Amino acid sequence: MRQNVCKWYYVCPMKKFYEEGRLDRHWINNYCKGEWQKCIRYKNVENNIAHPDTMLPNGEINERL
Ligand code: SF4
Repeated sequence: MRQNVCKWYYVCPMKKFYEEGRLDRHWINNYCKGEWQKCIRYKNVENNIAHPDTMLPNGEINERL
């Protein structure tokens, strides 16, 4: 069954960055509470591929986070 929220949301650094006001809400809406299946972070976790906390759901690195 498809979940509405990514199963990693509550431990994901994107949630923390968003709550700290450092990440725009569209990332959360489009990925974490939307099409989380398309998130590169999600795919990396599922495949045990290491990735930095500063990597956005689309795979870009944002060093300002
Ligand atoms: S950034 Fe990706 S892995 Fe993290 S909670 Fe959102 S959809 Fe899930």
